[in-house]
Amino acid sequence: MDYDIITYGNKLLRRKSTPVEEVTDDIRALAQDMLKTMYASDGLGLAAEQVGRDEAICVIDIPPMRDEETGAPKRENPDVRMPLVLVNPRITEREGEQVGSEGCLSFPGIYVTVKRAETVTVEFLDMENELRTVRACGLLARAIQHELDHLDGVLLVDQMSPVQKVAVAGKLKKLRKGRT
Ligand code: ZN
Repeated sequence: MDYDIITYGNKLLRRKSTPVEEVTDDIRALAQDMLKTMYASDGLGLAAEQVGRDEAICVIDIPPMRDEETGAPKRENPDVRMPLVLVNPRITEREGEQVGSEGCLSFPGIYVTVKRAETVTVEFLDMENELRTVRACGLLARAIQHELDHLDGVLLVDQMSPVQKVAVAGKLKKLRKGRT
């Protein structure tokens, strides 16, 4: 099934997630539905909070980029298999810094420049209930940090500088009023 994605202004986005005790068939089904919902909206990542659930789960799928020389599809993190489903994720290491534009399915039409770590190491349960560790850089590292924020009830709007907030104030107001 497809979920409706909750947008800014809905209090459910501020809820902190509850750790998953065990990856069961119900959890695997939730992950599949979240992936379907994310693909239907052309998103790169989605957290359970954004579909009104409170399990500590997020899904990510970064499409390959075109290699500049050969034009062939190329992944920035070739060792990481997509899609990535993270249950109870925890960042154990952050390195470096990257500054880039970030969007969010809960903030349609809004893009903000956000500073993030360039590389992160994340520990999580996979769909087989095994503890795994992934090291990611670039866009995938950015997506992991963004989705983990959601699981803590932290949103894109919290990453905005006062100047950025003023620039998108009208759009934020419309979202709060549900007139997107
Ligand atoms: Zn988001």
